[in-house]
Amino acid sequence: MAIETPIQPRGQFYAAPLFTQPVMPWIPDYGSLEDSGQSIHVGGDVYVYRAPEYGLNVTSLYAITRAGVIVLDTQLLPKYAEEVVRDIRARTDQPIRFVSNSHHHPDHMFGNEVFRREGAELVSSYLTARLIDGHGFWYLMLFNGLWGGHLPQTYVVPRTTYSRFREIELGGTCVQLMEFGDGATAGGESVDLTVAWFPEQRVLHVSDLLLSQMHPVTADGTSTEDWLVQLDQLRTLVRELQPRVIVPGHGNPGDVGLIDAQERYLNTLRRLVLEHCDGGEAPLTDDRRAQLRAAIVSEFPRHRLFLALDMTLSFIQMVGPQAFLFQRSEAPAPPRIPTFL
Ligand SMILES: [Zn+2]
Repeated sequence: MAIETPIQPRGQFYAAPLFTQPVMPWIPDYGSLEDSGQSIHVGGDVYVYRAPEYGLNVTSLYAITRAGVIVLDTQLLPKYAEEVVRDIRARTDQPIRFVSNSHHHPDHMFGNEVFRREGAELVSSYLTARLIDGHGFWYLMLFNGLWGGHLPQTYVVPRTTYSRFREIELGGTCVQLMEFGDGATAGGESVDLTVAWFPEQRVLHVSDLLLSQMHPVTADGTSTEDWLVQLDQLRTLVRELQPRVIVPGHGNPGDVGLIDAQERYLNTLRRLVLEHCDGGEAPLTDDRRAQLRAAIVSEFPRHRLFLALDMTLSFIQMVGPQAFLFQRSEAPAPPRIPTFL
């Protein structure tokens, strides 16, 4: 029996599918909620927490000082932000004083609320704060189709901001925050990015300039060509600083070999996209997409973060291979090497 509609609709409402149903079917490769992360000691009183696959393998770094704790990046899900806090509490009772967001992507800032509750002061570049402000709501809407109720109820914009450079000194430990991408220069994985340098410990946190054995997302208004420009700039910075440890935004810490690996990954990915899209001219059909995915996985059999790979493939399908391959702006500002040192 048909149910009568009490009011006849006048017109129709179309809900955007992204917001009403899962963006992609969840597959076992994306991990499960029961998985937990691990922490790694990288020297001095500096530690790196690495979330599991379900939390996108994102890293949070924390430095314990005599006067409190400094944290870089706050995770995607509150569940893992709370794991970072527990990890810190297992080592010290010092208050968490400063939390810095390297860029505005949700996997690096959705946990901000957890740290604000701990009493931390949230710090980021002015551009990152503005982008969190402008994108946080939409990221929550989009990711609702992936993580649903595991997402935070709110997003928090850092109130303490800087442009280009900020030094934080706490309990005898110093960290220098250097804005690497500023919206007017070549962007890599994101249009905004801050790297963090601990001069005494010689630890360099480069966030998503590098991913260690992880597939990247390349969908944020930049291109792989932009990213390769940034990697050249990072090489210059690394030659200058001579870090002992480089901490990527996803995956295990390493050394300068991480830059070589990232370059190799991006160049291989570019070659495969060219091959599967007739030199970048043809759109990525569903069939070609499946073949391209298989080719990428067979080139990088140890790489994780398959959700990022699938998002990148969706991006290439939506806007075409040109946006993936070539610099997006017709008249880009000349790339600059950071000049903070
Ligand atoms: Zn990330």
